[in-house]
Amino acid sequence: MNFANSIEAFERAKKSIPGGVNSPVRAFSSVGGTPPFIARGEGAYLIDIDGNKFIDYIQSWGPLILGHSNERVINKLKDAVYRGFSYGAPTVAETELAEKIKYLFPHVELLRFVSSGTEAVMSAIRVARGYTNKNDIIKFEGNYHGHSDSLLVKAGSGATTFGSPSSAGVPESFTKHTYLAKYNNIQSVKNAFESSQTNSGGIACVIIEPIAGNMGLVPAELEFLQELRTLCDKNSAVLIFDEVMSGFRADLRGAFGLTNIKADLITFGKVIGGGMPVGAFGGRADIMQKLSPLGNVYQAGTLSGNPLAMAVGNETLDILLENQNIYKILNSRAETLMNGFKKSADKNRIPLQIDVRGSMFGFFFNSQKVKNFDDALKSDTVRFAKFYRAMLELGIYLAPSQFEAGFISVSIDENIIQETIAKADEVMANL
Ligand SMILES: *Cc1c(COP(=O)(O)O)cnc(C)c1O
Repeated sequence: MNFANSIEAFERAKKSIPGGVNSPVRAFSSVGGTPPFIARGEGAYLIDIDGNKFIDYIQSWGPLILGHSNERVINKLKDAVYRGFSYGAPTVAETELAEKIKYLFPHVELLRFVSSGTEAVMSAIRVARGYTNKNDIIKFEGNYHGHSDSLLVKAGSGATTFGSPSSAGVPESFTKHTYLAKYNNIQSVKNAFESSQTNSGGIACVIIEPIAGNMGLVPAELEFLQELRTLCDKNSAVLIFDEVMSGFRADLRGAFGLTNIKADLITFGKVIGGGMPVGAFGGRADIMQKLSPLGNVYQAGTLSGNPLAMAVGNETLDILLENQNIYKILNSRAETLMNGFKKSADKNRIPLQIDVRGSMFGFFFNSQKVKNFDDALKSDTVRFAKFYRAMLELGIYLAPSQFEAGFISVSIDENIIQETIAKADEVMANL
């Protein structure tokens, strides 16, 4: 494959944009090489500015469950465009999208739209703190909830202490209210609850990706989530499911649909915007009523509920609601794909762990099952990078990191899956 135009575009971009990208993972740092600069997306495919065509398993990192440029969505967006880009005033489309989400998640009584997942999570945590009058929060190692200050934490010195900043520019004092626990390890959560109770007045909320997709795909065990629910009730803490990725992806009803566990608040993003910048947070009315203008927790947004974004979100959810059987189909394609990878890996004695949740898939070059971040970190990232670059050369666009999930869209049919498996087989033979 020839990447000459992308190489030139990347050099040019670096002169104006830090690292040439507006979100770090796009720079391909962990797999090496130049990221293809994209000219357009068509159904299952991305076409770059050199004319290379790739099967897209990133789907804009999750939102594009209908594939690129869905005709129905395009038409809705066209209608909306001619009515103006933004008003900064209420529209019926916002209520319609809210009603669709509430229909699928009946325990979400009130919700509010924002423009990104980061904003949704930041606001959900603020309202949880305002509701409980407590400051501390618990998050899990390897879970990602956007880039707000108090969530950019890594493990501190002691196992039960609060985290320390994982990014420069975040003061220690901003993260001292964030306790880090281990995914799928309820004792670590109990320890954090106790430590917070003794040191600083208790936990306001626990936030979790109930199906983690930001350390590779690592689903939480059902029993673990049930115990979390119980612990939060016992300690009057708000349980927040971050379903920005898993919502409308792992299942039409996300992790809630697969586990039936009712979080107090849920954050959404990605698919609910169908590729437009949309996030949302919502849940129990008594908590959400703390938000301004009803209550004293402030939260706002110039472009929140933007009419173009709402048009795309509404049409995307309408199509999903009308075709609820697609989740079974996408799930079976994801399973076929992963089983194909596994078969080739086994044949070549390459240790590989695979998992699937609905249209989400993940694989680790790892000899042990991955249940948490520590396990994930034991994966062979050098082998991953080699696999990655070879697959890209063959026109398969996977997430450029061992620690990201993959996605199947409606446009990725059985033939495309078989083509991908055949190429993976070719690559694994030379790993
Ligand atoms: C993507 C993601 C976010 C952040 O959303 P942005 O729109 O990138 O700000 C938050 N939480 C989870 C689980 C995500 O996957």
